[in-house]
Amino acid sequence: MKKIAIFLSLIFLAGCTYLEVSDDPVVQSSQDHEAVLHREGEPVPAAFPSQHFSVLSGGPASFAEPLFRAQDRVLKKPFGVLIDPDTSPVQPERFSGYHTGVDFEILDGELDQDVAVFAICDGKISHVRWVRGYGGVITQSCMMGDERIFVLYGHIAVHDTIISAGETVRSGQRISVLGDHLSQETDGERKHLHLGISLSDDLRGYVSERSALGQWLNYLDL
Ligand SMILES: [Zn+2]
Repeated sequence: MKKIAIFLSLIFLAGCTYLEVSDDPVVQSSQDHEAVLHREGEPVPAAFPSQHFSVLSGGPASFAEPLFRAQDRVLKKPFGVLIDPDTSPVQPERFSGYHTGVDFEILDGELDQDVAVFAICDGKISHVRWVRGYGGVITQSCMMGDERIFVLYGHIAVHDTIISAGETVRSGQRISVLGDHLSQETDGERKHLHLGISLSDDLRGYVSERSALGQWLNYLDL
C-alpha cells in the first residue's frame, strides 16, 4: 500500500515540475520530476550558503545587478531555501525542494511597468526560449576566474527580449524585461526574476537534496 502511495505521489509530482524544457510549452519531459520532490520533515532554513564560492572567487569578475535595486528585492525566496507548499512565502505554491536560485521581487508600482533585466556578467547568450515552470528563459555562459558558469534568467518576456542566442553581451547590458504577472511569460507565476547560476548548465529551479545545491552559486555571494 505504501509503495502504491509513493508511486502515485511521483506521478503527481511529475505533473508539476519546474524545468521541463521545450520550445513548445505543451511538450512534457519525463526525466525531471526529481527536481521538485519534497522531503518531509526537513527544517526550512532561511538560506543556504553556497558551497563552491570559496574555490571560485579568484577571478576579477565584475557582476552587475540583474535588476535595479536588486538587493532590496530578495524578499521571498533566497538561495537554498527549502520550499514546502504548505509553508512557502508564495501562495499558492506548486513547487517544493531546495531553491537553486535567488528570486528578485518587483517593487511598488512595477506591476504594470516594464522592469528591465540586465546581464550580470560578460558572456554569450546560449538560449532564449520557453521553459515549463519559468515561462521565458534566457541562459548565458560567463567566466568567473577560470571557471565557466551558466546564468539562467527566469520569468522573462521572451517576446520583448532584445538579444538572441549566440550574441555576446556585456555585464550590465539590458537584455529583456520581466514577464507579465500570472501570464504565459511567467508560466503562471507572479512577476519576478529567478536568477540561477549553475556550474553544470542545469536548468532546475529546485532540487530534492540539499547536497545538490553545491552545483549552484548564490548571486548574493558573488
Ligand atoms: Zn526562483
